[in-house]
Amino acid sequence: MVKNQKTIGVLGGGQLGRMMQEAAHRLGVELVFVDPQQDSPAKQLSNAEHIHKAFTDKEAIFELASKVDVITMEIEHVDTSALTELSVDQMRNGKAQDFGAAGERDLGIYPSPKVIEVIQDKYIQHRVLKDAGIAVADFSDVESVEQAITIGERYGYPYLLKSKRGAYDGRGNVVVKAKEDIRMAWDQLTGGGCSNITMGENGTRDSGIYAEKMVNFDKEIAVMVVKGLKAGETESYPIVETIQKNNICHVVYAPAGIDGLLMEKAKELAEKAVESICNIPYEIECDGQKQKVFGNSAGVFGVEMFLLQGEGEILVNEIAPRPHNSGHYTIEACETSQFENHIRSVLGMPIGSTNLKVPNAAMVNILGVSNEDECFIEYCKAHNIDSAKTSPMDVIVNKLLAVKGSTVHMYGKSENKKGRKMGHVTVVGDSAVVVEKKVKEILGIVNFKTP
Ligand code: ATP
Ligand code: MG
Ligand code: MG
Repeated sequence: MVKNQKTIGVLGGGQLGRMMQEAAHRLGVELVFVDPQQDSPAKQLSNAEHIHKAFTDKEAIFELASKVDVITMEIEHVDTSALTELSVDQMRNGKAQDFGAAGERDLGIYPSPKVIEVIQDKYIQHRVLKDAGIAVADFSDVESVEQAITIGERYGYPYLLKSKRGAYDGRGNVVVKAKEDIRMAWDQLTGGGCSNITMGENGTRDSGIYAEKMVNFDKEIAVMVVKGLKAGETESYPIVETIQKNNICHVVYAPAGIDGLLMEKAKELAEKAVESICNIPYEIECDGQKQKVFGNSAGVFGVEMFLLQGEGEILVNEIAPRPHNSGHYTIEACETSQFENHIRSVLGMPIGSTNLKVPNAAMVNILGVSNEDECFIEYCKAHNIDSAKTSPMDVIVNKLLAVKGSTVHMYGKSENKKGRKMGHVTVVGDSAVVVEKKVKEILGIVNFKTP
């Protein structure tokens, strides 16, 4: 089999890995995934020798390093100490150019471990961004309920308490509406409640908590920034608008319906934010000697932002060091998708065009719906079908396929759980009006609100 000589190892084998695999397949690039699930969404697409271990498992990461030329990830909650150790080994071999790529076999790690480390901890990420002069919502470290009360007096209510680490889809965020809520929010983040927050070794949540002032945004916007391996090689996709419901991204509109100057401002801010996270100088100890190195990095980054009401001020919410939900539309709507550009950039290939090839596009997430869902049961009654024996996902997909011009992506998840990201659908059109009409139709279908 003729394939690209370089193999990429990917930590995590979920839907982002699956879409990376789709792009890699076309380029003849082999991906090896580390994921505990044998038939994870990404592994289903290739019969390479995957590793069936946790992506947080040090041994699994070392095993991966022995098999591939480049390590990347589709999730930031990985073991950075293993990645750092691999990087130090590379330095010891005298090939270090930066902290991401080096070593006897030139094993590349992109994004580099330091970049992942900074992004993993949303509090540290905010500090790095703020130090670099990037506007973020007011935030502070919180170590006790008493401190959280003092912060409430300063920020006013409501404000947010957030887990520093391990959070996604808003699991890890609690809105504190009044002083009386603080104790419960605290317990939820440190003990009960958010069952999906990463647990510490001793079984308690040890991630730490920080507070964030509530932002009155006009819109949430996002952009995918591609950073190539060569210095200064940075390209951005169009600014999109994202609509969140219960903290989960539901709809993405590309391009965002904002004026050109704001688009430009958001793009510059996002690129500066990515640059500041990737270029932090820091020291690393190698054989008793401290060496100054840079985070450095390559790959795509999703930058989430708040566009404030009024004067067009923009704040950065957070950065993801990987392909991102707000960039799924690029598969159908852009000249090169975010997944292909991720593969290209970590391999040092030319970055593909990030331009839209259609005037407008939108993406709607397909979230899990249980058989007990009221709207689904109503739908089944109206169609004389047995709700217990019918798959809500099959019904949704069949109806979506009837929306002309839509492209459905199903992720092959092991189980249909309520609210879980099961797939997405993209539509493109000649105008925002045409796309909006289709989005309305699609939302009716995915929520079982249309007959
Ligand atoms: P992701 O899945 O994007 O990683 P997450 O768990 O890291 O999500 P955040 O991005 O911090 O969570 O927050 C999720 C959503 O909650 C945001 O998209 C936004 O809608 C809302 N939100 C978060 N922080 C604030 C804030 N300071 N002010 C207003 N809304 C906020
Ligand atoms: Mg996040
Ligand atoms: Mg977010």
